[in-house]
Amino acid sequence: MTASDALYARRKKLVPAALGIFNGSTAVSAHGATIVDADGRELIDFAGGIGVMNAGHCPESVVRAIQEQAALFTHTCFNVALYEVYLDLVEKLVDLFPHGEHTKALLFNTGAESVENAIKIARQATGRAGVICFSNAFHGRTMMAMTLTSKVGYKAGCGPYAPEVYRLDYPAYALYDGPMSEDEFSEMHLAAMRHYFQTGVPANQVACIILEVVQGEGGFHVVPRRYLQGLRELCDEHGILLICDEVQSGFGRTGAWSAYEQFGVTPDLSTWAKSMGGGMPIGCVIGKASVLDSINAGTVGGTYAGNPVCAAAALANIKYMESIDINAEGRRVGRVVRARFEAMKARFPTHISSVRGLGAMLAFELSTDGDLRKPNGDLCKKLCAMCLERGLILISAGTSGNVVRVLSPLVITDKLLHRGLDIIEACLAELVG
Ligand code: PMP
Repeated sequence: MTASDALYARRKKLVPAALGIFNGSTAVSAHGATIVDADGRELIDFAGGIGVMNAGHCPESVVRAIQEQAALFTHTCFNVALYEVYLDLVEKLVDLFPHGEHTKALLFNTGAESVENAIKIARQATGRAGVICFSNAFHGRTMMAMTLTSKVGYKAGCGPYAPEVYRLDYPAYALYDGPMSEDEFSEMHLAAMRHYFQTGVPANQVACIILEVVQGEGGFHVVPRRYLQGLRELCDEHGILLICDEVQSGFGRTGAWSAYEQFGVTPDLSTWAKSMGGGMPIGCVIGKASVLDSINAGTVGGTYAGNPVCAAAALANIKYMESIDINAEGRRVGRVVRARFEAMKARFPTHISSVRGLGAMLAFELSTDGDLRKPNGDLCKKLCAMCLERGLILISAGTSGNVVRVLSPLVITDKLLHRGLDIIEACLAELVG
């Protein structure tokens, strides 16, 4: 039995099986874009702890910031004894992500908590209850976030879910094979939203529309430009707040600090976590000051929210990402991966049915007979397992678990990136002949 096998055997005894195993790897140390496992094998990391390590594992300045802050104090609760690093981080965030003329931000611990609070804020700011979300959305595993999450497998048996949540189809143009242009397709979906205001929920009872500009767990669908712009117009027309969930797509992943900025749209509120903290648990809600200032005292907060060690890590992490131009790194990684994925699609046309994403948030969909309507989750599972045997950590996405996604650190060298992509291609060749 290997040391990794032994750890998984212990896990089986101690931890409920419901806690998923997205990849059967282990870790004892990590650096840059590699992880050393319990057996001393160096693995190429294409998962980045699910999109958390855009800046790579353990940048020196981030490790130092954590150590220095931990040596000063680890916790006071910001509501009890204010500390400057919270303000320094918020200052950086509102500077990077202006939401109109005056922007404010609140820190939280996770992505789900940030989403949860964004909805509470939107309801208070508008005095309305309705929340519109989308098919294939993933927003987290707390009760409201889980309600907003689409995939039944992530929420089965946990209901009743939060009320006043309405779901429309995400405009997944990559899955559409009819004659409409992307703009026409967008207009059709915008018309469906307008129709929904007559048949589902009146617009004047909707507090917010929340969406991922690039869906993460849902399979890396990118919102069409015209659709997002149209949503912005609809929101303005009806006094609805637009919330972009950038938890997975933020901080360089799509080749820019945010995905939304590439669509010429600014949300009223946005949610962030993952690569903001470089591995430390921290998230935030950023928004128009007028919105954030309209909510009731006592309705937001939390003992650990904006913990000083996490805030120091996030601040150092963001400064590090600025210094290496993380967005250029995202675009570089994106160019390499897209070219290789397109080549794999040409080589395996009956198994890869779609290559999609934005920047370095890229994926391909595995299907049977090249038919998008026949997702092949089984092949995806086999591919990830085989890649691990060859030294690559790869994870899937998509409602049917058939989407191969890349969320590697963006600091990965071209050489290592190609080595990882070579492993995927070689494994696929062996699996599909
Ligand atoms: N929103 C999105 C878009 C996500 O991808 C995730 C996590 N995969 C979450 C929210 C939840 O974040 P967390 O796991 O930190 O609660």
